[in-house]
Amino acid sequence: MNKDSFLIFFLILIAFILLFLAYQLISYFNRKNHQKTVQKKVPENTVNKCPVCESGLVGNQRIFSRVYHTESDSNQLCYIMGCSHCFPYSEMGVRRKCPVCTKQIPQEGYLVARIFYYQNKKNHVHIIGCTECNKNRIK
Ligand SMILES: [Zn+2]
Ligand SMILES: [Zn+2]
Repeated sequence: MNKDSFLIFFLILIAFILLFLAYQLISYFNRKNHQKTVQKKVPENTVNKCPVCESGLVGNQRIFSRVYHTESDSNQLCYIMGCSHCFPYSEMGVRRKCPVCTKQIPQEGYLVARIFYYQNKKNHVHIIGCTECNKNRIK
């Protein structure tokens, strides 16, 4: 092997190493981005949050609520008691809090909300307040 061909061989080898490193780097970043999007997606799509205690709800856990039929078809009055974490009894460390007045909701209290039904959009739940901050309005 003469000096020139050795040099060319050496340069090709370096080029291959650089290509390999670049490939590793790109696949590393791709994996990182992929993980990020997966982490973002999972809680939003499969977990519902309890509006009373902000606990994440999975699978068959559900929110206890009473829906009252009102004269209007597009929206209905709804009382939200809580989820299995906070109703009828609060679990350790679970705080029942009103998202409107931020006061603590008593165990026998509930949130007052209005559900808006849309034909083409997702239904919207608008929380008016709790039994504490709506005392005067609830009859
Ligand atoms: Zn809850
Ligand atoms: Zn309140």
